[in-house]
Amino acid sequence: MSPEAFSQAVLQWYDSHGRKDLPWQQGITPYRVWVSEIMLQQTQVATVIPYFERFMQVLPDVFALAAAPADEVLHLWTGLGYYSRARNLHKAAQLVVQQHDGVFPHDLEALTELPGIGRSTAGAIASLSMGLRAPILDGNVKRVLARYHAVEGWPGETRVQAQLWQLAERYTPQQRVNHYTQAMMDLGATLCTRSKPMCLVCPLQAGCQARVLGQPTAYPHSKPRKALPVRQCVMPLLVNSGGDIWLERRPDSGLWGGLWCPPQLDDGAQLADWLQQRGWQAGEPAVLEPLRHTFSHFHLDIQPLLLQVGPGAGVAEGGQVWYNLRQPSRLGLAAPVKKLLKRVAPLIDKA
Ligand code: SF4
Repeated sequence: MSPEAFSQAVLQWYDSHGRKDLPWQQGITPYRVWVSEIMLQQTQVATVIPYFERFMQVLPDVFALAAAPADEVLHLWTGLGYYSRARNLHKAAQLVVQQHDGVFPHDLEALTELPGIGRSTAGAIASLSMGLRAPILDGNVKRVLARYHAVEGWPGETRVQAQLWQLAERYTPQQRVNHYTQAMMDLGATLCTRSKPMCLVCPLQAGCQARVLGQPTAYPHSKPRKALPVRQCVMPLLVNSGGDIWLERRPDSGLWGGLWCPPQLDDGAQLADWLQQRGWQAGEPAVLEPLRHTFSHFHLDIQPLLLQVGPGAGVAEGGQVWYNLRQPSRLGLAAPVKKLLKRVAPLIDKA
């Protein structure tokens, strides 16, 4: 879609579906828009409404806010959280009164110099209350644009952020910029929602790349996880003459606490020591396909080895068991151990 077609589609949708009855959309002034925008950061519309109304009753304009005691402002904010927002609001009101005679500056740069006003909030104040062509990029708009263009990468990255701002800039129209801004926020909040986008009724569906790819919720990408460290271990599946497998109960605390596992060893040398200490005879190990198990803080690459042990293999005592695969006892098994036992069962049957 051309930028014109894009903004037209959004505006047409706004005319029939956009929200027009929110309290800050009545008697619009930069002050009312600003207070609502700050309240709406991190907070849902429904929660904000009563707070906004109370705030406006007590502090109806920037002069009243600038002159109010800090305690009064914080009192009116109580329950909304993120109190630095209220403190910045108070400071910014005093600056608007002192430096701009109580009139909000009509340019984005001066607006962003006020405490607590970032580029997107400045864009919202300028477009919604002053009719200036200024793009916004709040969470809702980011989501719509990232999906519409199937933008790769996490929006927290500078490169992705810059790309999204460029797109926001491209689509912001000259005319009816206030309605367009409101419409984009509404679209993100009501249609193009985080987990259940309603593409079928979306005015942007024709050109939306995430929809065409069939994966709208894959965008915007989430914050990349840090690469997890990888640890390695050897897990010998020691089989006795009856086809049972040696398992040990792990200590209650730590990895797989209290569950039953084959011994977990660092490498083949440690396995040789392990067998020697117990006086067990074992055949050549068969090297099985490795298995990766992921914990929250690391990957564990498990190298399973299948070994037949001689008749001198020990008797299981407390915390040890010869596990019968055909008639398994009801033991708690760690997930990868369950997988391994399933995998080796046919091999043992054949032996
Ligand atoms: S078509 Fe779907 S994914 Fe694309 S902007 Fe609309 S609601 Fe969002």
